[in-house]
Amino acid sequence: MTKLRLAIVGAGPAGIYAADILLKAERSFDVSIDLFDHLPAPYGLVRYGVAPDHPRIKGIITALRDVLDRGDIRIFGNVRFGTDLTLDDLKQHYNAVIFATGAVHDADLRIPGIEAAGSYGAAEFVSWFDGHPDYPREWPLEAESVAVVGNGNVALDVARMLAKHADDLLPTEIPANVYDGLKASPVTDVHVFGRRGPTSVKFTPLELRELGELRDVDMVVYDEDFDYDDHARESVAGNKQIMVIDRVLQSWRAREVGQASRRLHLHFYAKPVEVLTDASGRVSALKYERTRPDGQGGVVGTGEFRETPVQALYRAVGYFGSPLPGVPFDEKHGVIPNHEGQVINPDNNEQVYGVYATGWIKRGPVGLIGHTKSDAMETIEHVINDVGNWWTPASPSEASVVELLESRGIRYTTLDGWHALDEHEIALGEPEGRARIKVVDRDEMVAVSRRE
Ligand SMILES: Cc1cc2nc3c(=O)[nH]c(=O)nc-3n(C[C@H](O)[C@H](O)[C@H](O)COP(=O)(O)OP(=O)(O)OC[C@H]3O[C@@H](n4cnc5c(N)ncnc54)[C@H](O)[C@@H]3O)c2cc1C
Repeated sequence: MTKLRLAIVGAGPAGIYAADILLKAERSFDVSIDLFDHLPAPYGLVRYGVAPDHPRIKGIITALRDVLDRGDIRIFGNVRFGTDLTLDDLKQHYNAVIFATGAVHDADLRIPGIEAAGSYGAAEFVSWFDGHPDYPREWPLEAESVAVVGNGNVALDVARMLAKHADDLLPTEIPANVYDGLKASPVTDVHVFGRRGPTSVKFTPLELRELGELRDVDMVVYDEDFDYDDHARESVAGNKQIMVIDRVLQSWRAREVGQASRRLHLHFYAKPVEVLTDASGRVSALKYERTRPDGQGGVVGTGEFRETPVQALYRAVGYFGSPLPGVPFDEKHGVIPNHEGQVINPDNNEQVYGVYATGWIKRGPVGLIGHTKSDAMETIEHVINDVGNWWTPASPSEASVVELLESRGIRYTTLDGWHALDEHEIALGEPEGRARIKVVDRDEMVAVSRRE
């Protein structure tokens, strides 16, 4: 029987779902799958993006773990495609590869001053509070007033993590250094800025409602943002999600504020135009232009400019994928160019045989974890149907890949290693009554995983 030796690069939800779907799919050939990730632990942004105070979503890890624990997928963590392993290596050992490398960097916000000291990308901050091993342990939380630019769920995650009292995060898996950093934060006001109106936001009702439940944090919304035009009124009447968002915001308009020690402000119709700085070059204010609805769901500038004094700014305007050596890349959209997951050479629009993509690197950084499943189904269908066009590897044996990694001195981690790290983190949390405390240091993660 024909056998498909498949490499999947990226052990986030997209990569794991792709492996699971292929193994369960009806097909006329055997399958053997190796999953590579440059992090020592699997699960991608579920471990290193989803906020620690969202245990229900973090719990998706249990379902992903069940897939891996079945035992028919090998994992090689701490292996970076592009340096530890190249496309030529994969061609030597596999019939095909699926890239599921996600999008981990911040999209740009091109306004003057955005490079100032005290101006950060949301992805960096998220990586810090989620204990990503490749980010500094210390985060400068010195500002009393902070701006968060963006109106999606990541903007709300960042705003919530900044405004929430550190003690209320103690039951979560946050690393000790993150608790200490947040505990010392002098923040009193977090201002979230969105270009459009309350009925055009990208965040979801659940994320919004959660803000109103934060202890000792007042939600501040401004009456001037709720003078809806016909288009906005129709959106509220015709879209259940917007209706709920509107209801939540309207309830906050009616709330008494002034008792809490921290405030979270939502500014709509506010288009950032410049990050202002003080004499030392540090962020001192966000300058924005007031916008108004254009009647068709968009906005236009009014020519009225305002400034809100802040000492730090976070841009949460989206994530962006990174190019992979030897693999086509669409610089404009930050994705691997593809047709339903079959990678395309952008020069001639022809399929690059043996190379596939799934998840955020396939369709861009939008959508929830669940969407990566339907994505993977589409990609896997093509992998199966392309059976005649796979690569013909010179060394397809499972042992040959292990030999290659070992010959290069790569300290890879395995599924057994993940179990060891998982147990170790749970044990670290136990004396403090916490579900887990994450290990942040990469060498320590690798050493624990390799039971060294
Ligand atoms: C801050 C934030 C919060 C979110 N919160 C939620 C939420 O609450 N609910 C929800 O449903 N969705 C949420 N999402 C969306 C969710 O995380 C994504 O839909 C999902 O993770 C995308 O899956 P992916 O597998 O494509 O990418 P990822 O999860 O990013 O996985 C990609 C994997 O590829 C690996 N990789 C990258 N480059 C290489 C390389 N060169 N070599 C080897 N490995 C590599 C990475 O280490 C990573 O493990 C959130 C996203 C963010 C950014």
